[in-house]
Amino acid sequence: MTAGGTVGRVSLVGAGPGDPGLLTLHGRRCLAGATVVIYDNLTNPDLLAFTRPDCEIVFTGKHGTGVRLSQEQISALVIARARAGRWVVRLKGGDPFVFGRGGEEALECVRAGIPFEIVPGVTAAVAAPAYAGIPLTHRDLASVVSFVTGHEAGGAEAASLPWGELARQGGTIVLYMSVLQLAANLHSLVAAGLAPETPAAAICWGTTPRQRVLVGTVATLPGLAADAQLRPPALIVIGDVVLLARELAWFERRPLFGRRIVVTRPRGQVHAFAALLEAEGAEVIALPTIAPIPPERFDEVDDALADLGRYAWLVLTSPHGVEVFFDRLRTLGRDLRELAGVAIAAIGPATAAGIAARGLNVAVTPAEFRAEAVADALVAAGVAGKRILLARAAGARTILPERLRAAGALVDDIATYRTVLPPEAATAPALFAGERRPDLVTFTSSSTVTNFARLFPGHDLRAVLAGIAVGCIGPVTAATARDLGLQVDVEPAEYTVPAFTTAIVRYLAEHPRLTATSAP
Ligand code: SAH
Repeated sequence: MTAGGTVGRVSLVGAGPGDPGLLTLHGRRCLAGATVVIYDNLTNPDLLAFTRPDCEIVFTGKHGTGVRLSQEQISALVIARARAGRWVVRLKGGDPFVFGRGGEEALECVRAGIPFEIVPGVTAAVAAPAYAGIPLTHRDLASVVSFVTGHEAGGAEAASLPWGELARQGGTIVLYMSVLQLAANLHSLVAAGLAPETPAAAICWGTTPRQRVLVGTVATLPGLAADAQLRPPALIVIGDVVLLARELAWFERRPLFGRRIVVTRPRGQVHAFAALLEAEGAEVIALPTIAPIPPERFDEVDDALADLGRYAWLVLTSPHGVEVFFDRLRTLGRDLRELAGVAIAAIGPATAAGIAARGLNVAVTPAEFRAEAVADALVAAGVAGKRILLARAAGARTILPERLRAAGALVDDIATYRTVLPPEAATAPALFAGERRPDLVTFTSSSTVTNFARLFPGHDLRAVLAGIAVGCIGPVTAATARDLGLQVDVEPAEYTVPAFTTAIVRYLAEHPRLTATSAP
């Protein structure tokens, strides 16, 4: 109890099998509200992005790493935090009530008098076969499904399992936690009468970019698993439905499946690009090399905003620039109507979309999305003697104001934000030196390239990126990369993220894997 006497509560939330998109909406609401989240190694840590900034996050550790909380310690922690009035989310892989010890944790809550709820999750036996193209039931092939643990509490081979009934019953058998006992489990089934030629599959890391499916028979699967050095987590699926994977496998057949692509743009802009790459099957690694922060002083910005009516043009050159411009306007208690007589130019479609979302028309978006083209478009519209407000990042290229001034414009070039190297980028060296090196690194602006280079002081960037392809969104970014000695492999004809994605798909289709990945 807290001083006020309020008891907290516990939500046992199923995280799903790996793909973060398989979390339920209710699970997401719990994560967003919780003040403590306790998670383990089978839950995808990306889900922690849904928590509040002040949420306490506890990792229960991993088998064999030495740092691991016991079931008793986990339960004690859950109860202690709830007694202190906190909302505890116990995030568990798959579904909490399917081979997840969720029942035990819920009983502890009952004994301690703590309110709890169970939020179901997509269990591995449902999700992994779905991603492998194996329907668990099929009108002609299987009308019963069994979910079985291949390894019972205590760790011994599951001698007491009703192998005879499972073998006789037919249909589909799904084994959880069976990898280490695979040969023994399958042997028990055959000894109990299951035909050794029954189709069988192992699905490792199902629903994740590391998914790997081995297909054979009950007789051949242990050998296949040994050859592939199969390790947990994996599920074993047994039954005629396994044969449908030949036609129905979809997840691993997407063009970028198995490819690891680094996105270096600012955290707030990763999502839009990542979603496009992931839809093609890629594993996206967010490595923001720039983070926008407010200017040291707002004097210059506020002076410009004080009298917007004097400008003929407002020029915005990035989605973030749009956001901070209008945020500042609102902070100052000003009004969009002050832009009534001001024409607006955007450097490209994403910037234009940000402006349009605020109910404003964009008069100019050049055909080519770079500063030179914006200058040409404005000069063509006639800028002599006109005042132009250029609101963008500190240290941006000088070409745009120079050209506009040369054409007789009066340009106020103000810095509405600065960019810095974010601290989380310090993980970069490990990523490029590690075992599962990326296939491709993407750069979406010159500053993403220059800041990337700052992560490897004293190193030859070419060597850091040996065997890894480099993609740049447009010619200015590509020129910066080449100046740093890099070879640019992917460069779309149109400088947008969708066109960049298409170019990446095409390039990687023509260039089979360059880097080795580890065994599953
Ligand atoms: N509560 C979980 C199961 C926990 S037991 C659920 O409902 O899914 C852990 C076992 O689940 C693993 O040994 C493995 O057999 C299976 N498993 C979990 N995630 C998996 C995944 N992504 N791919 C394949 N099997 C998985």
